[in-house]
Amino acid sequence: MAQYKYRLDLSKPMEQQEQPGHNRWHPDIPAVFSVEPGTAFRMDCKEWTDGQIHNNDSAEDLRTVNLTRVHVLSGPVYVNGVEPGDLLVVDILDVGAHQESEWGFNGIFAKENGGSFLTDEYPEAAKSIWDFEGIYTTSRHVPGVKFAGLIHPGLIGVAPSMELLQKWNEREQALIDTDPHRVPALANPPSEESVVLGHLKGAEFDRIAKEGARTVPPRENGGNCDIKNLSKGSRIFFPVFVDGAKLSVGDLHFSQGDGEITFCGGIEMSGWIELKVDVIKGGMEKYKIKENPVFQPGPVEPNYNDFLVFQGISVDDRTGKQHYLDANLAYKKACLNAIEYLKTLGYTGEQAFMLLSSAPVEGRINGIVDIPNACCTIAIPTQIFDQDIMPK
Ligand code: ZN
Repeated sequence: MAQYKYRLDLSKPMEQQEQPGHNRWHPDIPAVFSVEPGTAFRMDCKEWTDGQIHNNDSAEDLRTVNLTRVHVLSGPVYVNGVEPGDLLVVDILDVGAHQESEWGFNGIFAKENGGSFLTDEYPEAAKSIWDFEGIYTTSRHVPGVKFAGLIHPGLIGVAPSMELLQKWNEREQALIDTDPHRVPALANPPSEESVVLGHLKGAEFDRIAKEGARTVPPRENGGNCDIKNLSKGSRIFFPVFVDGAKLSVGDLHFSQGDGEITFCGGIEMSGWIELKVDVIKGGMEKYKIKENPVFQPGPVEPNYNDFLVFQGISVDDRTGKQHYLDANLAYKKACLNAIEYLKTLGYTGEQAFMLLSSAPVEGRINGIVDIPNACCTIAIPTQIFDQDIMPK
């Protein structure tokens, strides 16, 4: 049985935990425990905002959320004997909710505080609370749907080397510099606000807080990939950049649609995860897995097999301008088309938007060569609705 190696009190903020986790990427954040390769263990995870979002009917907490606090992560875990150049093999054995916290949230961030994939069309904050009953979830804020979750960590990754961290900070700052006042921002540079770094204090804390990368984007170390199929039974192969690999995990989602389009996010939850770690010595070079993890999805997922699929092409919905093979724009258009359709079933645009971000919808890049339009689709499972949603 997996040993319970890391416990959290869900009622307390991360820095008040007996063993606080962290919310930045840096090679020098101390490990919370170490394990031998071949070991299975259980860890608690807090939801990504560290308890800022409440189970009520107001979106005010979401509108004013402090985003310098995210993501609060559990770890890092030091795996003995693992070195740069190895592959860290991580099995997600199981993942679940705590009995005292069987609910989660999805929300649309306000344009001036985070924004979302459709921030021009939906600039205001909105929130939906989702209640769990076993494998199922329903929401009093998005009525008429019920679906099975596919719980997964939105964020799981290893520590960067100092060299890799510097590369991230430089390339992201260069992007920010192209339009430094954009709302929402193009990227988030390091910020010393609301930093948690385990038990670190003093000069070492100040240095790491100043240098540490934000956890918002996915990067070479994995990180905030938000892959809905990275659920129980999955096996991930991480390139290793520092001694011990320093694995961290958090941002659990009860369920998520491909793209996590509201930005907040899937159905965000606190919970626990059981992991097993192992190592392939020298695996980075042997398998050319050097700059981003590789994974094998698990065998468990909701068995929805009937979909209504919406297409989108790379034309800007607001200006009508033709773009060249832009899959981002095509996916946006597919989502907007789906939302307009869902509105005919009685949903508000915000409800439909949050549903696409929360339910097990499948996003695809279908055509990426047929100039000038990329084609993307979003597929909505029809069986999650309590009404027939097909056109008649
Ligand atoms: Zn999330």
